Amino acid sequence: MPPHFDPTLVNDAFGDAGLYVDLVFQKRAILFDLGDRANVSARKLLRVSDIFVTHRHMDHFAGFDSLLRLLIGREKMLSIFGPPGMIDAIEHKLRAYTWNLVEGYDGNLVIRAVDVDADGRMSAALFAGRSRFARADRACAQYEDGLLLQEPDFQMRAATLDHGVPVLAFALEERMEINILRDRVERMGLAVGPWLRRFKEAILREAPDNDLIDVIFQSETAGQVSKLPLGALRREIMKSGPGRKIAYVVDCAFTPENQEKIIDLARNADLFFIEATFLDADASVAAARRHLTARQAGWLARKSNAKRLVTLHYSPRYKGRGDLLADEAQHAFLGH
Ligand SMILES: [Zn+2]
Repeated sequence: MPPHFDPTLVNDAFGDAGLYVDLVFQKRAILFDLGDRANVSARKLLRVSDIFVTHRHMDHFAGFDSLLRLLIGREKMLSIFGPPGMIDAIEHKLRAYTWNLVEGYDGNLVIRAVDVDADGRMSAALFAGRSRFARADRACAQYEDGLLLQEPDFQMRAATLDHGVPVLAFALEERMEINILRDRVERMGLAVGPWLRRFKEAILREAPDNDLIDVIFQSETAGQVSKLPLGALRREIMKSGPGRKIAYVVDCAFTPENQEKIIDLARNADLFFIEATFLDADASVAAARRHLTARQAGWLARKSNAKRLVTLHYSPRYKGRGDLLADEAQHAFLGH
């Protein structure tokens, strides 16, 4: 992966499912699922701006309290997306504590909870420390094509799957990959520096070609700044390509409807994180618990035309034999 997205699994394949994605240039991170977070440092958790919870079985949501403990009293806005019922769940979690002193804290922690329903509606509510986390409902919004979040350099898409309860699956897409050609920068006599980041931001915002960008020439003395048009810089110093894509799918049955939605969501993903909870020999148990087998996971990754497959969320019954699950999935992925 290029350094724009830096994804790491939060636990080993037998631990609670979870994926931490650092958005390297934005000083922020995204978290998929909120189970056991003991393996993620406080420094990393403090970067998290948005959390995407697949569903509220305990192993996907029990980390809320410890995260709240870390964030309380900080100046921060945290968004938590989940299937319907997420707003109520967060309200109940927050009501379990006594907040008579919270108004006096330095920072105002604001939690924005978002219910994502299968019919394209999102409802949100804010809970602010300043008002003792009283619930403030926001107007409903529609979302199209599963698109939950659209930012200048990435977007997040979701699909609702069946696991006995609705479960969200996610795809994170970089809008465009921009590579700066350093040798060209230097050949133009320009110095490599923070102005390149502002240049990239202007490209991502689709600023007009005649916009002037502050640049620094190697020959200039400290503090001196020149200006060059965005279009000329674009032609000279950058190469762009389609953005990278990460898909995250856990806790779902291998039904035809789920299969179709998963293949559609994860299509052409560079990295596909998917549960491989049971061996195919135990497919009947998997079906009864509405989970995927490793072979089914590999097949789905193959059908999605994913480039790489990473399996997670193994059942504890296979402890010590995790490689069997990984191998079975890779085998099906490669079409053997
Ligand atoms: Zn689970």
